[in-house]
Amino acid sequence: MIDTQIQNAITISNVTKTYNARGLGAAKTALDNISLNIPRGSMFALLGPNGAGKSTLINIMAGLVVKSSGTVKIWDTDIDQNPRQAKANIGIVPQEISFDPFFTPSRLLDLQAGLYGVPARERRTKELLELVGLTDKANAYTRSLSGGMKRRLMVAKAMVHMPPILILDEPTAGVDVELRKQMWDNVRELNAGGMTVLLTTHYLEEAEELCDRIAIINRGKIVANDLKENLLSDAKGKEILVTLDREMAAVPASLSAFNPVLIAPNVISLSYAPKDVAMGAVITAIGAAGFGINDIVPKTRDLEDVFLELTR
Ligand code: ADP
Ligand code: MG
Repeated sequence: MIDTQIQNAITISNVTKTYNARGLGAAKTALDNISLNIPRGSMFALLGPNGAGKSTLINIMAGLVVKSSGTVKIWDTDIDQNPRQAKANIGIVPQEISFDPFFTPSRLLDLQAGLYGVPARERRTKELLELVGLTDKANAYTRSLSGGMKRRLMVAKAMVHMPPILILDEPTAGVDVELRKQMWDNVRELNAGGMTVLLTTHYLEEAEELCDRIAIINRGKIVANDLKENLLSDAKGKEILVTLDREMAAVPASLSAFNPVLIAPNVISLSYAPKDVAMGAVITAIGAAGFGINDIVPKTRDLEDVFLELTR
């Protein structure tokens, strides 16, 4: 399982998924020619609004949805050529919680390991329960567990076959703040232990807090994919609010390179990439357009700004 040659835990190339028309529903292209690499060892967020196509992509990797075209490799195994091996390399925690409520956590993990063909002597039931903090619930009925404990049990269940990649589909949707922090700690620990983690989320905060790489998906297309720091500082980068010495009836064409938006008669917002443009050039351009400057306030951007810009 440990292959030092592998750079990308997951390689997605030109994947399209069109759901067939059903009843009155028209055919729906949920994924439109998606290409994405998940680097080995990364903590990767696939961030996007509801309906963007996140679960469709996860379910293709899980073998639950059949793609229309394209290729997916998991740990260098093509999911079409060798679906069994591909599945052995990932653990998937689906969006919905589902277990047989009458089994105990311990029994449930044993059964799941059996499904994956893990021999009894290699099962790690105790270790996994400890990892997700459920040792004292090992023999309780699953139906008696709290929502948070059930989610943690789902994570343990996804890991019975010791996959190098863990995929979590909206692990904290509808989960309270305290529990969310707990899940984050769990996931961080797994990643620190060398596991590649891919999670989907529609919470900006989650992607920002937890992940080192972020891809943004919107209407079935990847609209950004970068290290978190680059996403935050790149693109149109910096935004400043400039208060002018008088009202500006219309934005002069000479400022058009700075993405100008008049937000009040005498206040203009300008955005530019600091790596390409120095603030001095911006000030000079305003002066050349015949305006004096009363004030300049930098506006710091966060992931939310980037997200809104890209998904608009
Ligand atoms: P997300 O997980 O990002 O919320 P989904 O992958 O669940 O998005 O859905 C993407 C799009 O595909 C949505 O427009 C959704 O309505 C549609 N869709 C999802 N599953 C099906 C299905 N089984 N049949 C038809 N359309 C579907
Ligand atoms: Mg979903």
